[in-house]
This record gives sequence, C-alpha cells and structure tokens, in this order.
Amino acid sequence: MQATINPQDILKKHFGYEQFRPLQAQIIEGVLNNRDTLVLMPTGGGKSVCFQVPAMLLPGITLVISPLIALMKDQVEALRANGIKAAFLNSSMDNNEAEAVVRLCHQNELKLLYISPERLISIIDGLLSKIQISLIAIDEAHCISQWGHDFRPEYTKLGMLKAKWPDIPIIALTATADKITRKDIITQLGFVEPNVFVASFDRPNLSLEVKFGVKKKKKVEEIIHFVKARKNESGIIYCLSRAGTEEICAELVHAGINAGFYHAGMASDQRSKVQEDFINDRLKVICATIAFGMGIDKSNVRFVIHNNLPKNIEGYYQEIGRAGRDGLPSDTVLYYGIGDVIMLRRFIDESGQKELNLEKLNRIQQFSEAGICRRKILLAYFGETLTENCNNCDVCKNPRMNFDGTLIIQKALSALTRLEEKVGFNMLIDVLRGSHKKEIVEAGFDKIKTFGAGKDLGFYDWQQYLLQMLNLGIIEMAYDEAYTLKVSDFGKEILFGKKHMHLVALEPFTPYKPVVKRELQFDNTADLTDKLFDYLRGIRKEFAETENVPAYVIFSDATLKEIAQRKPVAISDLIHINGVGEYKLHKYGNRFIKEIKSWLKQNDVKAPKVDTYKETLTLLNAGYSIEEIAETRQIQVNSIYSHIGQLYKQNLIDSLDPYINAAEIDRVRNAVKETGETKTLTPLFVHLREEVPFTMIRLALSYLEKAGEI
Ligand code: ADP
Ligand code: ZN
Repeated sequence: MQATINPQDILKKHFGYEQFRPLQAQIIEGVLNNRDTLVLMPTGGGKSVCFQVPAMLLPGITLVISPLIALMKDQVEALRANGIKAAFLNSSMDNNEAEAVVRLCHQNELKLLYISPERLISIIDGLLSKIQISLIAIDEAHCISQWGHDFRPEYTKLGMLKAKWPDIPIIALTATADKITRKDIITQLGFVEPNVFVASFDRPNLSLEVKFGVKKKKKVEEIIHFVKARKNESGIIYCLSRAGTEEICAELVHAGINAGFYHAGMASDQRSKVQEDFINDRLKVICATIAFGMGIDKSNVRFVIHNNLPKNIEGYYQEIGRAGRDGLPSDTVLYYGIGDVIMLRRFIDESGQKELNLEKLNRIQQFSEAGICRRKILLAYFGETLTENCNNCDVCKNPRMNFDGTLIIQKALSALTRLEEKVGFNMLIDVLRGSHKKEIVEAGFDKIKTFGAGKDLGFYDWQQYLLQMLNLGIIEMAYDEAYTLKVSDFGKEILFGKKHMHLVALEPFTPYKPVVKRELQFDNTADLTDKLFDYLRGIRKEFAETENVPAYVIFSDATLKEIAQRKPVAISDLIHINGVGEYKLHKYGNRFIKEIKSWLKQNDVKAPKVDTYKETLTLLNAGYSIEEIAETRQIQVNSIYSHIGQLYKQNLIDSLDPYINAAEIDRVRNAVKETGETKTLTPLFVHLREEVPFTMIRLALSYLEKAGEI
C-alpha cells in the first residue's frame, strides 16, 4: 500500500525542492480545500508552485490563465523539464496545433493547460465543457483591474468563470496590487469567502544602489566595468528611450561585451530573437526599454541597471525584481540625473492622469535622494515595515550624515533671486561657481553680487544640494517655464534667516571600483567551488542545447551552485540538492555524478566514500529499475539484488513483492528444508535444478531470515 501523497512530497518529487517557502504550504492547503484564493507575492517569490503542486494532486486539469504568450511557453517548457504533462493554447497557434492540445485534454493526458484569456473565452462553452477541470489559476491577476498598472480588457470577462463553474476553486496571483486593486480582483472574479495571502515583498538578495548625477561618459565607463567584472553573468540595462537602448548597446559592443537591444520600435520577430538569445545565454546583456521583461522568466539574471530614473516606484521595483529570481545574490544600480526628471516631466505632461503620475515621480525622486535605508523606503511604499536596516543598500553600506546647510541654501537662493528666478539648474550652478561661459557674460550674470559665491563646491556637489533643496520644497521647478527654478515660500524663510535647515552630507565622489573576483587558487574550497560551477555550467549548456531549452530550465543557477558546493559523488547526495526532482535526477544525475567524479580526480580532490546500500535505496525510491541502478552505478545486477535483500533485513524496504513472487519463495523454502542449507547458494541452486537464479535465491533467503524461518 502506498501512503497518501502530500504536497511536500510532490514538491520534492516533481520540483526538487526540499521545503516550501513562506505561505506556499498554507496557500496550497487552502486551494486543496476548494477555497478561492488571492495571492500577492513579489516577482520571484514562488507563485507558480502554489498552483502547480495542487495541479499534481487533483484528479483533473488545472487551467492557468496568463496574458503573456512568451511566458506561457517558458513555463510549459520548465514543467516538461520536470516530467510534468503541460501544454499551452494561445493565439500564436494554428488550428491543428490547438486541436492536438484539446485532444490531449480529452484523453486526460495533461495536468496543466496554460491558456490566454481570449482563447479561454472563445472555447469555454465548446471544447472546454467536455474536460474535467479541477482548478483555475489566474496569473497576473492585477490585469483585471483598471486600478492596476496593466489593465487588460480581456481579463474583465473572467468574471464568467465563477458563474459557469461555481464549484471549481480559483487561485488568482499577482506581484503588484494595492488595496483597491486587491478588492477589485476579488469582486470581479466573484470570489466567495476567499483566502487572501500577502507575502513579504522584501527581496533581500537584491542589493540596491542609487547614483546621482554621473556624467554620461563616466556612466558608460562605470557600466562597462560593472558588466565586465561579472564574467559569465547576465543582466538587463533599462533606458528611458529607444535611442538610449541602442546607444548604450553600441558602447557595450564596442567594449567587447556581448550585448543586444530591445524596444517596442523593433519588428516583433527581431524582438523575439533578442529575447530568445538572452534567455539562452547567447546574449549577456540586454539594453531595453521597459517593454522588455514582462514576458521573461529567466531565473539567473544577475544584475539590473537603470540607466535613467524610472517613472515610478512600482515600475522600478518590478524591473529590479527581474534579477535574482533564483534567490542568489544579485545587484541593482539606478543612475539618476536631473535630465531624466526633465524628460519624464515631459512624458507626464503628454499623458492622462497627470497629477497622479507627477506624484509618483516625486516619490521615486524622494527615494533616490533619501539618506535612509533604501529598502525601508521601498517596503514602506508597499505598506510593509522593515524594522532593521537592510545592510544591502548603498545608504546602509555608506551611511549619510546631516549638517547645518543653511549657509549653502542661502547662497543658492540669493543667487537665484538675483537672477530673477529665470535660470535652470546648470546656469545657476555656473553662476554660483563663477564661470565665465559666454552665455553668462553676455547675460551680465557675472556682475551680480553672488557671482562666484559658491566656488568652494564642485559642480556635482551643487547639483546634489540643489536636488535636495528641490525635494525638500525649498526651491521649485517651473516645468511650464522652461524648467527654471523658483524660490518657494518655505525657501524664503530660510533665505531671510528665519529658519535653519539640515542637508545630507555628500560622500566624497569616489570613482566606481568594479568588484574584482579573486584569482582562482586550487587549495581554496570557495575557489574550487567556483571552478567546478563554471565546469558544470558547460555540461548544463550541452544538455540545454540538445534539448533546445534555456540552460536554467535544466538546473537553475542556485541548484548548480549548490551542486558545485556539495560536490556530490552519489545519487543519494545529489537528490538532496534543491531543485533536483526525480525526473531530472533520472535524466541528468548520472552524467553530473560522472563529471564531478572525474573533475575531482583531475583536481586532486579526494571524493568521499559512497554508502553503497544507501545509494541503491535512494535509487529504488526514486523509481529506478534494478537494471538502471546497475547501469548507473556500474555494478552487477546481482549485487543490487543482494543490496535489496540487506535493505529488507534492515527494515529499510517494506516488501520484497516487486522483486520476487510467493511461488519462488516457496520453492526456496522447500529447498532449504530439504537440504538444511541456509547460507551457501550453490547447493540450493543445484537442488533447484538451476531453475531459480542466484539472485532470487538470495532474496528468498533474506525473506526467510527476516520472517524468522531460518
Ligand atoms: P513568481 O512567479 O512568483 O515570480 P516563480 O514561481 O517563477 O516566481 O518562482 C521563482 C523561483 O523560485 C523559481 O526558480 C522557482 O522554481 C523557485 N522556487 C519556488 N518555490 C520554491 C521552493 N519552495 N524552494 C526553492 N525554490 C523555489
Ligand atoms: Zn539598507
């Protein structure tokens, strides 16, 4: 009798993970109890498992509704790589392909069917009515709400699901939903007493860094250093404009980096190619507008750089969230210049919802300018409080200090007043620093009293202080008057000495130092791990190419790292690694073990001893046949039978039924009685007229011994 299968077993067997992440187990339990469920989890939080594990436990099909065609294909590929029967139906397929998929559904040959909302609506009363549906998952559920940032009209029709199938539980999942959107999702989908789970949005593995006012040329240099310091690792560089993506891409390519660009102005086949190349590690870096990323599921993106200020915190958080989905440390850098603000203001002027968008821009400016832990600000924005500093952002690593900035502010405001509030950032700074540029002399600005009053500070420093003044409301920018600066009422109070004001001290402007990886040394375990990781990456790539799937679908970086760290030389060790499920164990286990063994030998590392019984047991439990075990372990089939006998005697195997039948045991039992022989096999073999193989005699003896008969 097989014990009942629980979700945790499914998680290991099919997905290879040892443990659920926070909330996953509760979510799954609710779903299995037919509860409608809303899940809010950040990108990379592990939403898929919440419906994929129930899908494996439920009798019928789980429908997964997703708006992103590219993502569907990736998810289905990833499921199939784990030996799970999954398929997708969307508008990119022709009728024949679609019918083939529907046929699989009718034959109950699928556990998960990914489907686009349009397709779903069009076949809901026809084809779909004949199949057994056990669960419906709605991915990117915020698309249903006009309040969300990615409203899709097709999603609003999903309300009909509950009406049509009131008894089928629905799980809606999203990475972004504020309170109104949440409520809207629940109402529109017609949820009855739903379970609502809100996971922490913290992504502690992402480092956060903001750099202000780095000049363009310098920025390009820094980015090139940054990328080059991350040898085999890939990342995304987000730019505000299409031209920007092409420009920075050209710079990277010029520096010998394997980069591509992506934006909505490209033909769709061109875009798909770039995306595929990135996913398959043929391109190291993508320079893209925010059009890129929604449809990708690449778990080993190691860095995200924002070449410009994003337009709001939601977007920023989602974009950096594309790094490090596998949970390994990943880096994010945001470059922020006043030119970005001007450009974004221009976009906003042309948009609807002007006020809301301006407010959102202000918030991200404040975030970028802040002198406190950046993660605290981000999480607060999403309604969560972080009590401790994160120690993984630039502010935590390099704490800012406050000082009385009244004098600096007064100098700036006084100059601005004398310039009749008719200049912008750069001109004001030039006057403060006493520049004799042509425009300044021509306008007679070199004659005003405060000309050169701020010589002691550099251009960059002034930029930083003025920006702080802007964010503190001391000066305002007249976006409708050619971005000239104005002194606010609050500013006037400081100018006239009625108020004192603190500014955040600037750190000395140190040039960016790329992280240089230590040289490989053979006697150091960490370096050995790195080296083995690189080696195994090559093996992974081989598999990926043969199977025509992205490398991370074979094993994620996190899994491969763990393999490199633990250096398993036996399947019984490999199976305990996160991300190694039964299917992948079968498919790749042997090769990896073999490669690791020979690699260890080559590098003069002694391999640990393998417990031979345990190894056989692990393989049996993982569903290997006896012949496969012998083949895998490069030992005789006979020996495996003797292992089985031993394991049975030690109570590590419940029953010998799969290996020997009662009639054979009976024959051996009689032979034992008749000969009196209980140990040596040959006399029994001869007595049985050589009709019962040695292996079976051995197993039968184990059986009789354990039963106390001999
Ligand atoms: P989301 O859809 O929330 O962005 P995914 O479902 O793609 O996130 O999961 C992100 C990554 O985390 C994937 O590589 C996934 O396989 C992995 N993952 C999910 N659950 C677990 C778990 N319990 N243990 C280890 N890794 C997990
Ligand atoms: Zn911090």
